[in-house]
Amino acid sequence: AGYVQLIDHLAAGVNVILDAPVEGIEWSDGSASAGQPAAVVRLRDGRALEADFCVCTLPLGVLKRDHERLFQPPLPDRKKQAICNLGVGVLEKVALRFEHCFWEGKAKQLHCFYRVPTVEARATPAACEAPYWLSLRPVTGSNVLIAYYATETGRIVAKLSEEEAVKSALALLKSMFKPEEVDAAKLLEVKRTAWIEDEWACGAYSFVAVGSSPEDRSALAAPLGALHFAGEATDQ
Ligand SMILES: Cc1cc2nc3c(=O)[nH]c(=O)nc-3n(C[C@H](O)[C@H](O)[C@H](O)COP(=O)(O)OP(=O)(O)OC[C@H]3O[C@@H](n4cnc5c(N)ncnc54)[C@H](O)[C@@H]3O)c2cc1C
Repeated sequence: AGYVQLIDHLAAGVNVILDAPVEGIEWSDGSASAGQPAAVVRLRDGRALEADFCVCTLPLGVLKRDHERLFQPPLPDRKKQAICNLGVGVLEKVALRFEHCFWEGKAKQLHCFYRVPTVEARATPAACEAPYWLSLRPVTGSNVLIAYYATETGRIVAKLSEEEAVKSALALLKSMFKPEEVDAAKLLEVKRTAWIEDEWACGAYSFVAVGSSPEDRSALAAPLGALHFAGEATDQ
């Protein structure tokens, strides 16, 4: 179940090389001379993959950090400008699975809930103040609550240890429900993300930041001879 079905379908019959960080992409404008590969992808382990085309799907955050050292020749100015202009957003999750459900019956449809942060918390975002909560019970039947942390609170939560993130999430739940009910529900399992801290992601979603425009997405998506671009940030 899940998205892996799509991946398995697309990957069928394709030679997928995993655990192979790309350290360099040499590309040509398509007028490569005879005998020369149009694109060469250099891997950290020293291998060089020669190809007629290269499709780069690096996340925008990784492109922002690494494009200067990755591409040879360097990317043209308009491409660099698009990488610089578009923003990378922050969205982190802490998922908690409980033995018992304590949140149903408190309201007619408690699938998604949220506590409006205090004015003070909005001024100085505190990790436990601003997530919205999603209950997976209506969809999967499991007693799972997921806290979504965006923007500054996401940055704070991503830097916390798992123990600290869970403590913070439980403290918030105890401020919204009866603390003894939260304790009695018995936390069984935790999963959390820290995409903004992940060196291969450097963030969650791209967005059209102040000062950028949808044309930046087109500029990012535009092919450069043998070098093509795809991935979330190029989607319009
Ligand atoms: C919290 C959150 C919730 C989301 N929920 C949904 C949802 O419910 N539904 C939905 O449709 N979408 C959702 N999305 C969005 C979706 O996950 C992304 O849009 C999608 O995964 C982007 O795919 P991509 O291939 O562009 O990039 P990625 O999935 O980020 O793939 C890029 C790949 O490049 C690799 N990489 C990075 N650097 C290098 C390097 N130097 N060498 C080699 N490989 C490298 C990375 O390891 C990664 O595997 C969510 C995203 C977030 C953050």
